[in-house]
Amino acid sequence: GVFVYNMINASIMTLFAWTTSQIIYASEKRDYLNQQLIKQQTAQLEESNEKLERLSYMDPLTNLPNRRYFDEYLDREWSKAQEDGRPISLILVDIDCFKELNDSFGHQVGDIYLKQIGSVLCTAVNNPSSLVARLGGDEFAIVLPDTCREDAGRLAQQILDGVRALDKYDSQPTGRTVTVSLGISSLSPSEDDFAVELFSNADHALYSAKKNGRNQCVCKESIEMYSSVDALV
Ligand code: GH3
Ligand code: MG
Repeated sequence: GVFVYNMINASIMTLFAWTTSQIIYASEKRDYLNQQLIKQQTAQLEESNEKLERLSYMDPLTNLPNRRYFDEYLDREWSKAQEDGRPISLILVDIDCFKELNDSFGHQVGDIYLKQIGSVLCTAVNNPSSLVARLGGDEFAIVLPDTCREDAGRLAQQILDGVRALDKYDSQPTGRTVTVSLGISSLSPSEDDFAVELFSNADHALYSAKKNGRNQCVCKESIEMYSSVDALV
């Protein structure tokens, strides 16, 4: 009787231990799978966040960095130029009479010109520390860290030539020559200068290039010199 009783007892105990271990195993397995799932979802989330972040800095038409990226880049490079006592240059590029071209040939043709001109800028710049960006509409900008006025002027000249050469390769959808105007500004910033000065100088220079008849570049070296803007072309 005692033997049978002990056997039943042992069986119950074994069954109990087995059931408990199965429950623990199942719960650990579930935790492990949950953790794996969380890890996988976190990685996916991080990846799409990175993608979104990249996209938020890009102009989808030209595949160039956009205004948002430009602003941050200019601020960063401006601070470096201040710290290092180095010059920094900015070129603003605006397509001439682009509205008329759009009106005559349509927006899609205008888009082709925007892409082509974006490519001309990138080919001319070809320097990893410089930035080519599309600011919006038909306006582009080139940030040139550690670049003096003369070098920026030479680059602007290359861009003018590159855009003028576009029609020679029969790549223009309208058979019409398109031109750009450029405003250049160069500064060796001191501690109490602001990046917006570089921008507004380039903007004034661009305005002068437009006023002087377009298809040219104008350089402005400092705010004080605004009254004596000198045309490079
Ligand atoms: P200016 O020589 O003085 O620069 O004259 P403009 O006609 O180029 O200047 P305006 O600012 O009057 O016109 C810019 C035009 O750019 C207006 C708009 O139709 C066109 N535009 C802006 N964004 C886009 C775009 O994404 N695609 C196309 N196709 N056109 C655009
Ligand atoms: Mg324009």
